[in-house]
Amino acid sequence: MREKIEELYRQCQILEPDRKVFDHINERSTTFAFDFMESLNDVKAYISDQGTGEGIKEYDIEEEGVEIEKLLDALSKNVTGNGLNPASGGHLGYIPGGGVYPAAVGDYLAAVMNSYAGVFFGSAGAVRMENLLIRWMCKIIGFPSSALGNLTSGGSIANLIAMTTARDKKLKHSDEYKNAVIYLTEQVHHSVTKAIRIAGFGYAHIRFVPIDDMYRMDVDQLENLIKEDEANGLNPFLVVASAGTTDTGAVDPMKAIGKVCKKHDLWFHVDGAYGGFFILSDAVKHRFEGVELADSFTIDPHKGLFLPYGVGAVLIKDVDALNQAHYYQANYMQDAVEIDEEPSPADLSPELTKHFRGLRMWLPLKLFGIKPFKAALEEKIWLCRYFREEVQKIEGIEVGPDPDLSVALWRLKPKEGDANEANRWLARKIVEDGRVFMSSTTIDGEVWMRIAVLSFRTHIQTIEKALEMINEIVSNELSFESESFVLV
Ligand SMILES: *Cc1c(COP(=O)(O)O)cnc(C)c1O
Repeated sequence: MREKIEELYRQCQILEPDRKVFDHINERSTTFAFDFMESLNDVKAYISDQGTGEGIKEYDIEEEGVEIEKLLDALSKNVTGNGLNPASGGHLGYIPGGGVYPAAVGDYLAAVMNSYAGVFFGSAGAVRMENLLIRWMCKIIGFPSSALGNLTSGGSIANLIAMTTARDKKLKHSDEYKNAVIYLTEQVHHSVTKAIRIAGFGYAHIRFVPIDDMYRMDVDQLENLIKEDEANGLNPFLVVASAGTTDTGAVDPMKAIGKVCKKHDLWFHVDGAYGGFFILSDAVKHRFEGVELADSFTIDPHKGLFLPYGVGAVLIKDVDALNQAHYYQANYMQDAVEIDEEPSPADLSPELTKHFRGLRMWLPLKLFGIKPFKAALEEKIWLCRYFREEVQKIEGIEVGPDPDLSVALWRLKPKEGDANEANRWLARKIVEDGRVFMSSTTIDGEVWMRIAVLSFRTHIQTIEKALEMINEIVSNELSFESESFVLV
């Protein structure tokens, strides 16, 4: 038996590389990473002409290993070389991503240490670090020090945790369930309605509260709807507002909504996945007034703090309610419940074993301090305003309302014909060009182009490049005529 074990030991020793092999892998990977980052300025923000990564199929999982050089080559040929490039400052579509480098170092170290961040008993330090980050976010939005929450994989799971908590806190009897009413606007992110369904209350009545011409929730209408539902014996229990909608960046009037929720005893959730961190920017801080009245708040460090994908957060005032919705008991965890100086993520979220994602956030924040992050956020606000000022000078282009944050609407207004068709055409042209990437949306049946500025790598040069591209597309096609529209 010993011989067998020793033979197996020899076979699996490769899983623990010696320093030389390790240095080699590291050196190649670091070179790859820095070449990638250096190329970002020259590479397109959307690559549409390099296939769809089919070559990765040749790298199916097999018995024998392959050297690192070949694997990095497969990565650059099949993964980084096509489609969206969210690490690029030219990514101005959807909600842009980030990827500040020390976050990668945080991930690397977290993976090497493999700290058990789910339970205080497992790694008290890791849990303390994550709770410290959560309390910092609570503080910046004005929640009391007794509030807490969870570092999630992103905004969708953060919204799910908030919805589950609101459900368990507010709906206790079966008739409360049956008559439950939720209030939100058409502009709420789809992850909220998805969360409502996953959390098992898709049967609830959903009221779409009308929006004003700034795309913000009309609070008088909200209160009217609530009163009407109360009078009809229904059970209004939840309002979901947005601190920065995905489509237009609109911030709902928090204070007024908070007051209505308090008056009618409703749970007040704010989805600030995109916009939350702009509370750190002096230029727009005032728009968040009243956000402290919320019961729960979603915020995405992988958007507004420029971290790589994989970290969101939910902040919740009533930690007992959060715990009631997510605690667990298991015999095999009996040692873990002995010490609890700090609440454990496993008691406040659906996860047990999880990535120690706090380190990727703590490291860059501590290394750089919060100042450059604030400056970058403020820069995004001004870049968006600058774009909007300049793009409307191009003949044939109109813009939407003044942006609340760093998303603005703009579009082609063809001389004759179908404006929606013209803007769909423009959206395709922009993807084909790829110098910068922007996406379109449809609001009230109208197709609009959007610019969303949130990458830490987007600067004035990027905006100039975007304007140049739009100018070229529009003026090169000056006499463009399709079946449905005439450009100029
Ligand atoms: C991005 C976004 C979400 C979803 O967050 P993910 O991190 O993509 O899961 C939710 N709400 C808003 C407003 C968003 O912008």
